[in-house]
Amino acid sequence: MLPRALAPRRARVLTLVAGLLGLALLAGCAQSVDPIERLSKKAAQRVRPHEPATSAEPAYRRWGLALPLPPAPRVRARPPAARTAGPGLPPVVDRVRTRDRVVFLTYDDGAEQDPRFVDMVRELRLPVSLFLTDSVVGPGYGHFARLQAVGARVQNHTLDHPALRGLPYAGQRAEICGQQDKLTSRFGIRPRFFRPPYGTYDTNTLRAAADCGLSAVVRWRASLEGGGTLTYTYGEPRLRPGDIVSVASGESTGLTLVKRTTRLLRETQERGLTVGRLEDYL
Ligand SMILES: [Zn+2]
Repeated sequence: MLPRALAPRRARVLTLVAGLLGLALLAGCAQSVDPIERLSKKAAQRVRPHEPATSAEPAYRRWGLALPLPPAPRVRARPPAARTAGPGLPPVVDRVRTRDRVVFLTYDDGAEQDPRFVDMVRELRLPVSLFLTDSVVGPGYGHFARLQAVGARVQNHTLDHPALRGLPYAGQRAEICGQQDKLTSRFGIRPRFFRPPYGTYDTNTLRAAADCGLSAVVRWRASLEGGGTLTYTYGEPRLRPGDIVSVASGESTGLTLVKRTTRLLRETQERGLTVGRLEDYL
């Protein structure tokens, strides 16, 4: 117990400490809110994209980049559609024919559900596409709804991730249409793109994709491995305008999705490129 004479002084000190703590907490809360959200619409228009004006450290630095990621150029007209294998069949694309200095980031399967990746997509305004497989996402659709809410687009990658090539039409159709229905009911949108698991397909895949209402079959030229390095299916072994990059997920031995994405963005910037939205080009 304290002597009676010291008690009022102790009370004053405690009040002061409590006040300072309160101020610190308030400051902490204020910083954790996205600065853009706190600005009026008019003020927000004056802020350079990707660089919140009121933050001590710009978003791009928080995510390990040396430079801001410029917004993709506005797409005035879609590039001419890629050739198809026959009438009524969707085109199969692994890159987009464009001179815009953009690459496209596509994430497969849906195994990694790191909340930090949602923050990264929101803060960097990354226009990513997510190709989801129902059996891999499992009960994790809420995570992808959060990604959709911050600008990601959801696309179809089958119910159960089989290699489709050689399977009967009915089985392929069930895999593709089944996931199409699931994604439509989960996300309130009907995906336009289909990515065949392992990139392998045949004419039945194209017929089934068309019959399920999909308008393009999307493969990739570049693929980001678990260790964060890019490999290429053909052509120049470096990122070029129009490249579609597939980011596989669920590789437990590799870097986290956030770290791999940072590496990919650095390489994108080193090549003088930025990230475009695939849905604007196909
Ligand atoms: Zn896959």
